[in-house]
Amino acid sequence: MTTTTAAVLRSHDTPFTLEKVELGPLRPDELLVRIVGAGMCHTDLAIRDPFYSQTLVPAILGHEGAGIVEAVGPSVTSAVPGDHVLISFEYCGHCDSCLHGRPSYCAEFWVRNGGRRVDGTTAAESTSGEPLTNRFFGQSSFAEHCIATDRNIVVVDKDVPLELFGPLGCGFQTGAGTVLNEMKLRAGQTIAIFGAGAVGLSAVMAAVIAGASEIVVVDLNQDRLDIARDLGATRVVHGATDDLASAVTAGSAGIDYSFDTTGIATVMLAAVQSLAIGGACVLVGATQELNVSPMALAGRTVTYVLEGSSVPRSFIPRLIDYWRQGRFPIEKLTRTYPLSEINQAEADSHSGVTIKPILVP
Ligand SMILES: [Zn+2]
Ligand SMILES: [Zn+2]
Repeated sequence: MTTTTAAVLRSHDTPFTLEKVELGPLRPDELLVRIVGAGMCHTDLAIRDPFYSQTLVPAILGHEGAGIVEAVGPSVTSAVPGDHVLISFEYCGHCDSCLHGRPSYCAEFWVRNGGRRVDGTTAAESTSGEPLTNRFFGQSSFAEHCIATDRNIVVVDKDVPLELFGPLGCGFQTGAGTVLNEMKLRAGQTIAIFGAGAVGLSAVMAAVIAGASEIVVVDLNQDRLDIARDLGATRVVHGATDDLASAVTAGSAGIDYSFDTTGIATVMLAAVQSLAIGGACVLVGATQELNVSPMALAGRTVTYVLEGSSVPRSFIPRLIDYWRQGRFPIEKLTRTYPLSEINQAEADSHSGVTIKPILVP
């Protein structure tokens, strides 16, 4: 067992509290990682919805961890103590989706990422012996230490700024992966991105990498539209308009790809209505229903992505290469907070002050 400190969510409507917790013991395929940085993603905050939190609390959240391996179980083959690792989502490795290189659509995705092991156990308890949910995305990294698995870690070179890279494990991978893995955007094609948060802006960077001829970005926050332009958006649209689809298409026959990161029904509809015939709309993080006329879909497709349809161990090193080349400048979107200021980070994420908070234990 390892005694460590974690940010614990005890109820859907209370702040996170820093508590001493006991982790472990490690199972054969698990690793103990000392966290150096953990991104905060909207999925962490969505857990405040009582629908999710009632079965999870008390819980340690966090699913964009980066750290240094301290100990490994006997069957771990992908890392040794001292390795620098990013931690991504968990998957089974043997279902049809996993075997076809689509681990984010693993048949056991929600079982394995929902906060407990497949057998229903957790690997953390409070000092009074109370079980704490801590297998959230196979990590629960809002802590000084977390337990990862042999499957969901990505070993990275020791010369990269580990603390910065945790969000590659979810948010940035989701945005960039949607463009590069799911859409497979080609040079000269056009894209519209709805919502300029961490996911939308990483999609902008990926669209530039792919050579998009037009990158339209929609948001309600002018500061974020300015950042989108700085990252390579060719046109920005303030979302407070009566006819969003027309504002996006601007008289053209429509765009090749649209990407909604807002999950808002009217915005998702505009993303579909912006498409040219043959175009494809990709949705992520939706909590509302998409209400669209079937005729509006004639010759068009709509899909929903998880984790940018990425294989983390192959895609994240590629993103790090783009970062080294200056083409994936995620540091423009991040701000670090001590783990003890997690509630401030959450407030700043909600208010839009910070695009991607990174918590540093
Ligand atoms: Zn699987
Ligand atoms: Zn996430």
